Amino acid sequence: MQTPIDRTRLESLAHQETERFISANPTSRQLAQAARPHLLSGVPMHWMTDWGTPFPLFVDHARGVHFTDVDGHRYLDFCLGDTGAMFGHSPGPVAALVRELAERGYTTMLPTGNAARVGALLAERFGLPVWQFTTTATDANRSVLRWARALSGRSRILVFDGCYHGTVDDTFVRLTDREARHRPGLVGQVHDLTLHTRVVPFNDLSAVEAALADRTVACVITEPALTNIGMVLPDPGFIEGVRALTRETETYLVLDETHTISAGYHGWSGALGVVPDFLTLGKPVAGGLPAAVYGMSREVAKAAEAYLATKETGHSGMGTTLSANMFTVAAIRANLEQVMTRDAYWHMTATAAYLAERLEALFARLALPWCVTQIGARCEFQYCPVRPRTGVEAEAAMDDTLEGALHLYLLNRGILITPFHNMTLCCPETTHAHVDTLVDTLAEALEGLI
Ligand code: PMP
Repeated sequence: MQTPIDRTRLESLAHQETERFISANPTSRQLAQAARPHLLSGVPMHWMTDWGTPFPLFVDHARGVHFTDVDGHRYLDFCLGDTGAMFGHSPGPVAALVRELAERGYTTMLPTGNAARVGALLAERFGLPVWQFTTTATDANRSVLRWARALSGRSRILVFDGCYHGTVDDTFVRLTDREARHRPGLVGQVHDLTLHTRVVPFNDLSAVEAALADRTVACVITEPALTNIGMVLPDPGFIEGVRALTRETETYLVLDETHTISAGYHGWSGALGVVPDFLTLGKPVAGGLPAAVYGMSREVAKAAEAYLATKETGHSGMGTTLSANMFTVAAIRANLEQVMTRDAYWHMTATAAYLAERLEALFARLALPWCVTQIGARCEFQYCPVRPRTGVEAEAAMDDTLEGALHLYLLNRGILITPFHNMTLCCPETTHAHVDTLVDTLAEALEGLI
């Protein structure tokens, strides 16, 4: 898509912003040098070098909608840990609890009363009665795939092209030239994932129907909207259609609400009235501490308990030692009861609606053929005039050079948005004035590029 962005100016903007970043962040630079010999690629997670800055920005502390780097710059955070801090950094009730529990133990391999309470809270909120805990959303998804396969006796799963469900091997399959292939970039992948994973385009119900027809698929796993390849909303009736097809073919439906929990108090599925067989949720569920949960229907739970009662002894292949530890389970409780409240959602969604409105007005004023999509507390802008309907369309709308330069421009002026696409989140502390700062700064950058 041809946009009025001047590529020569873009190149010089990227250069200028890189220089500005280097001179403004001497302490980050020193830390990057100090970390280089003892951390792989100089960072604790290798992908932390993918941000588009010449060296990583090192953080000192974060609270609410702000964080401060080691050079003392204070940032307005619209990335919010890629949803891990969707309800703000160190949300008050979770922070208070952490202080209170600091000397009362962290992990024992035994349940606490809070676990029972959290199960009930999750059941009330998401309409699935039975729950389990893991440490990451990745692991929640991995566990659910195991259960779906074990209980159905079927080996395959179905994913949508462009999906992301964490580092779950089975889901790293893309449609390339209409064929299922490994997602590019995988490291050390020795198993042929396409043997047990089918992949079809999002929003294509007849493809789903065809993929499920032989009844060898254990489950369909999807986000209600694809949120990791830019953004792809479901057509009206698509998720309901997938639900109907999975019921018809006795295939489990897994909804991964880790990101779409931004949609509202009951998640996307709750708002839509679609009840999956499994629901997974990680990242913000413990206020940013490492914890995740997965829920299941009563029918699935009964089958799982019967399975456990007769299964041969030995490791189930699910469960890690620190999962459901007393500390993070308490944090989930405080977070569900006091942070992820209806009031918080109301404020976050209203603020994000204001952000979406302002972005749309900006792109219209500058005649930029770009679209804006809001899912509750979350907004995404994409470099295409019409919202993409598939992963392929969403990917085609990406522009890494433009994105990198804009993100760096914002960062150099104290604003962080999510890397790898244009995702912005509004937390309970985000105000209209914060949104104005973001949009006005973005406007300044874009005006210089047209
Ligand atoms: N599901 C979805 C939809 C995600 O976006 C992610 C992470 N971005 C995950 C699962 C995995 O979360 P984690 O990396 O915390 O395991």
